[in-house]
Amino acid sequence: MKIITVEAYILNIGKPSFRPVVTRILTDEGITGYGEASLGFSSGPEGALGMIREIAPLVIGMDPMAHEAIWNRMYYDSFWGQGGGAAIMSAISAIDIAVWDIRGKALGVSVGTLLGGRMRDSLRAYASQIQFGWSKEGITGGKGYSPDLLAEQAAAAVSDGYDAVKVNLLTYAPDGSRYGILKGPLPGKVLREAERRMKAVREAVGEDVDILLENHGFTDKEAALSLADVCAPYRAFFIEEPCTQEEVQNCAEFASRCSVPVAGGERIYGKRAFANFFEARALAVAQPDVGSSGGITETKKICDMADTFDVNIQTHLSGSPIITAASVQLESAVPNFLIHEHIVTCLSPAYRDLCIYDDQPLGGRLSVPDRPGIGQELTGEAMEKALVKTVIS
Ligand code: MG
Repeated sequence: MKIITVEAYILNIGKPSFRPVVTRILTDEGITGYGEASLGFSSGPEGALGMIREIAPLVIGMDPMAHEAIWNRMYYDSFWGQGGGAAIMSAISAIDIAVWDIRGKALGVSVGTLLGGRMRDSLRAYASQIQFGWSKEGITGGKGYSPDLLAEQAAAAVSDGYDAVKVNLLTYAPDGSRYGILKGPLPGKVLREAERRMKAVREAVGEDVDILLENHGFTDKEAALSLADVCAPYRAFFIEEPCTQEEVQNCAEFASRCSVPVAGGERIYGKRAFANFFEARALAVAQPDVGSSGGITETKKICDMADTFDVNIQTHLSGSPIITAASVQLESAVPNFLIHEHIVTCLSPAYRDLCIYDDQPLGGRLSVPDRPGIGQELTGEAMEKALVKTVIS
């Protein structure tokens, strides 16, 4: 079997801030595979698409059953693979995932089976980013600037069956504007408001629901430590991206001083970068994004390496149903899976209409599909309505 064409799409769901980048690889045997680059939100889509266009010629004519050979050619022959970074690693991921999809379809098995077989039939899921609201409107913004509003969103997620919610307590100031970047020990006024919000969420969800804190790297180490301190009485499950994930020793120092387990990884690219974090004991929960950390080939290695350090896995998810499907297969098969991210975006009809299957958690658990490959495909309409389509053959 040979790869004959790589197509790449920037999808249109009517929101300039979210434009998923999806690949579709065609083979000479008629088997088609889908993948995704996880730079589909904020300022990433055109960069990912451009890099896919640059590296796709490297894989034309290659046998999709040989995923390591394909991965290594993309990594070394692109020149920019070494050193990592968002654009090149997302492009490698988008092609690698489609290759795994083809491999599974060719053999008539799921990617989870290819990875060694499933260890679980369903995944514990959490409701993610409730400060942006929890409803089928998706990300609306402005729902997290008061304790009462946050409590309402958290209660809505729990009434949908979730026993874990993730919230950024510091996205919005009390007047609804954004706090932006917060550096240094936080002022008492900001801390007291954060504590009121945490308390309101805890009271809304009860003692048996886990509260995950998300900082998006918008705090520095000292700001995040002061936040973790005031939240301690209300028990946080983990704190995510408490500071910029680039200076490893700084992250390790945070982890050593904070009583809350530290999560991170959506902006760490590839196994070598993750190795530095594991060796420095800077993470308790690794959150590689399958669509930017090197695809399934590389992320499986990251998961296995994490297991050596008692680091658990939650793949970062903020893309289309294509990347979710690929990630679910991986999460079903690794021993150190912890919890699955279900972001509020996934509730919106525009998101749910992109693909042919609509896999949503029920009672806070997501069933693992057993369809061949990654088990997901774009609809014809999603491809027709794409903002950009590029074809490399
Ligand atoms: Mg995050």
